[in-house]
Amino acid sequence: MEVVLAEKYGFCAGVRVADKLVRLAAKKGQKGAIFGQVVHNESVESEMARLGFPTVHDLETAKAHDKRVVFSAHGVAPSVRAEAASLGLATIDTTCKFVTDIHREIMKSLDDGCFIALLGQADHREVVGYTKDLDPAHYRVFYRLEEVTSFDWSGVPRVKIVFQTTINSESFAPHVEEIRRRVLDTRIADTICYATKENQDALRVLCNDPAIDAIVVIGGKNSKNTKELARIAQAKKPTFLIGTAVELDLARFAGMKKVGVSAGASTPDYDVEAVVERLKKATP
Ligand code: SF4
Repeated sequence: MEVVLAEKYGFCAGVRVADKLVRLAAKKGQKGAIFGQVVHNESVESEMARLGFPTVHDLETAKAHDKRVVFSAHGVAPSVRAEAASLGLATIDTTCKFVTDIHREIMKSLDDGCFIALLGQADHREVVGYTKDLDPAHYRVFYRLEEVTSFDWSGVPRVKIVFQTTINSESFAPHVEEIRRRVLDTRIADTICYATKENQDALRVLCNDPAIDAIVVIGGKNSKNTKELARIAQAKKPTFLIGTAVELDLARFAGMKKVGVSAGASTPDYDVEAVVERLKKATP
């Protein structure tokens, strides 16, 4: 089978830094706990646990792991940092620079008297980090278009639209339009991460190649941007969304000659390489 990798795929700069910081700490003999997944990828999570950094879901548990906690690339709310400090935990902060910039952007916009319309998933760790400490009267998270149209905008004279970094801008363009129609002073922070967009654009190139029979998207089951890649691919080609190479059912590629491969921003290179190797061995 011929396998074509998307020109851009896999780990983004923010995740590479997070991965590196934890590995460096492990190399120094440190142990700790990762608060939530360091990235949304089960294979990276297992690897981190092997290095002495298991994932935990509350800070209290981190006390049992050398009193050290890692904040993921998605970032956390200021109150979480304060809680870690009050528990006497040392921290390894791997928050992506873009996420830190968005935290600042939101605070500045609130100071400017803006209502924050956050376009994304309310329960996504990144979004929880932005909103956990905010006054609910000053922001709202919108995911479905109906949530925008049914919201009472009459008391909102000025709004700042902020995007979760990994969302697809095209899917949320109607949301922006609807808000613009309702609020005269609509301001937009361009916070969609270029890494996500680059992976999406490179995948679209594969999807538009008539010689490619199917697309394989590799990534964690909880990874929003991986799911987004799969959604883009599904619109054009038969698509297989898998976590690792062992999930590949080669029988389903029978009769196919050429397959395109992409991977989410939290998928490590070694998972991509393993999938490519397995696919190459498949007989068309
Ligand atoms: S996808 Fe973008 S915002 Fe998210 S961690 Fe990676 S570089 Fe940072």
